[in-house]
Amino acid sequence: MDFGIAGKWALVCGASKGLGFGCAHALVREGVNVVLVARTAGPLEAAAEQLRAEAAVAGNPQVLCVAADITTEEGRATVFASPQGPGVDYDICVTNAAGPPPGNFRDWDRQAWLNALDGNMLTPIALIRAMADGMAKRGFGRIVNITSVAVKAPIGNLGLSNGARSGLTGFVAGVARSDLAARNVTINNLLPGYFSTERLRATIEHAGSGTGETLDTLLERQCATIPARRLGDPQEFGEICAFLCSRQASYITGQNILADGGAYPGTF
Ligand code: NAP
Repeated sequence: MDFGIAGKWALVCGASKGLGFGCAHALVREGVNVVLVARTAGPLEAAAEQLRAEAAVAGNPQVLCVAADITTEEGRATVFASPQGPGVDYDICVTNAAGPPPGNFRDWDRQAWLNALDGNMLTPIALIRAMADGMAKRGFGRIVNITSVAVKAPIGNLGLSNGARSGLTGFVAGVARSDLAARNVTINNLLPGYFSTERLRATIEHAGSGTGETLDTLLERQCATIPARRLGDPQEFGEICAFLCSRQASYITGQNILADGGAYPGTF
């Protein structure tokens, strides 16, 4: 299927590794020009190089990158001002940043909560605010927020994530149904369950610390709880994201799309 988005411009945040990289990869394979953002320049450049090699089979879309912290106002200003990016005329935006640290709610002070809100709620909202009206004027926009299964089924040691991402989910439910919908601007949340990334390994290691079990054993135990009996592949996550960015997906907005191999046990 031709997704009809070749030649469009996408900003992909948190794109040097893991799920963000999977999204950038799938968009490049659709011929989309991408601007990748991550904080650490070395791995970001390496990721961009890898995608440039892939771009040859997809009509050679441009692959640019900006090293910046997308969760700060300065970082976002750097991204939008960078000569490495085409300004704010993006057609597609994938919002993503590190999840908040695991822990116990008794240890989290006001600053810990503000950091979580900045990273996983206020940053996607700031990006939507910066881009949505331009997309609406041009008659095409796709915003995909990488959130988490935690908004449907809270994860015990990730209370900061459960809370901050639920706030974003409520905001998106409203804004996606605003005047933007009639202008072909869709805003959806993509909810990963358990995908094989650095972040997942660190989270599982933290949850299993003190048990004396190896990471492999902990991962096996995790997989046993998933009906698909495996972790997700960031590339398949990216392909779902690319579909949500497609011309065909213009009637899907304000949704929370769970990709978890069946792990969430609810009917709805
Ligand atoms: P990952 O493998 O650790 O990759 C995170 C990527 O985001 C890296 O490229 C990282 O590069 C970049 N990044 C982090 N903070 C950033 C910031 N402030 N500004 C710009 N770039 C930033 O993580 P992942 O597993 O792909 O997870 C992505 C998101 O999905 C996280 O919020 C995570 O909590 C959530 N999630 C993941 C899973 C899963 O199964 N993997 C499940 C549920 C939710 P730098 O560090 O160089 O910036």
